[in-house]
Amino acid sequence: MFEHDAVDVEQRALTGALPPRSHVAELVAEAHARYAGLDEGEVADYIPVLGAADPARFGLSVVDIEGTSHEVGGVGDTFSIQSISKAFVFALVCEELGHEAVHDRVGVNNTGLAFNSVMAIELNGGSPMNPMVNAGAIATTALVPAASAEERWELVRGGLSRFAGRELELDNTVYRSEAETNHRNRAIGRLLQSYGRLDPDPLETVDVYTRQCALSVTAHDLAVMGATLAAGGVNPATGEQVVSAEVCRDTLTVLASCGMYERSGEWLFEIGLPAKSGVSGGIVAVAPGKGAVGTYSPLLDPAGNSIRGQRACAYLSRALGLNLFASIHRGASELEASHV
Ligand code: GLN
Repeated sequence: MFEHDAVDVEQRALTGALPPRSHVAELVAEAHARYAGLDEGEVADYIPVLGAADPARFGLSVVDIEGTSHEVGGVGDTFSIQSISKAFVFALVCEELGHEAVHDRVGVNNTGLAFNSVMAIELNGGSPMNPMVNAGAIATTALVPAASAEERWELVRGGLSRFAGRELELDNTVYRSEAETNHRNRAIGRLLQSYGRLDPDPLETVDVYTRQCALSVTAHDLAVMGATLAAGGVNPATGEQVVSAEVCRDTLTVLASCGMYERSGEWLFEIGLPAKSGVSGGIVAVAPGKGAVGTYSPLLDPAGNSIRGQRACAYLSRALGLNLFASIHRGASELEASHV
């Protein structure tokens, strides 16, 4: 998945803040320039309308915890948030129900299988396993405390909008295209019901999940949403406390282990950041206490992760010193490289 061209960038081990702003701007521009011409991968088309995405699109945004953004390319291009919604719905549910309830009802372990795997449920006695695969995300959406599907949807849309710092809208074309073809997700809903893992109506819950995936966002939105998780739950654009710092910690932990599907280990090994991707081509990668990277480029690898997005994140993680696991010896300068 990762060509090691990003490895020619020295790995910085940087605790505390991001490097000076002018330097961040330069590196974001460099990351975009490096990968804009890369045209490997395929656009997802199992949701029919996604097949029409323009493969040339590439937006890259970095937002720090003070709300400063550095952006290049199509950062205003809209696309459906898809699986990236799972991270933020999980955070909202954690905020409502707490650490233990979510751990017990959904789980936090990687399946090692594709995001829409039915076998993963069967192999694990009906457990949805984690909130970042479809089964776990449907189970998480079911936990949003609401008396009706419509109320559940409004809570989800409103909550994700608070993360983005603006009112997010449904992309009706994407919603309809997925709703007409999401037989597998409906089967997952029914299977969870058969195991007593879903209290509300399964098909209504899958419908809310399908709508949450069809919320329209930009790469800039993703960076603001991620920066909110990086800033202890305070949206750096609006100043609103969206969720608690404890919820951010729990969400980022699950993103680290499960956010990039069955490739999460490989991602963490190369990039060292909690992250979430979606099949329309978005990625959000979060550097706790620093900020977040939001990318949009619809060409995907076989696991469903954007190729340009992954490469740009790998580059920025190294160049900006974001890798959580890069260490330095006490007494060494913060800017000193720890080569890998
Ligand atoms: N809505 C998509 C689905 O349920 C989301 C999948 C994804 O982004 N990986 O299949």
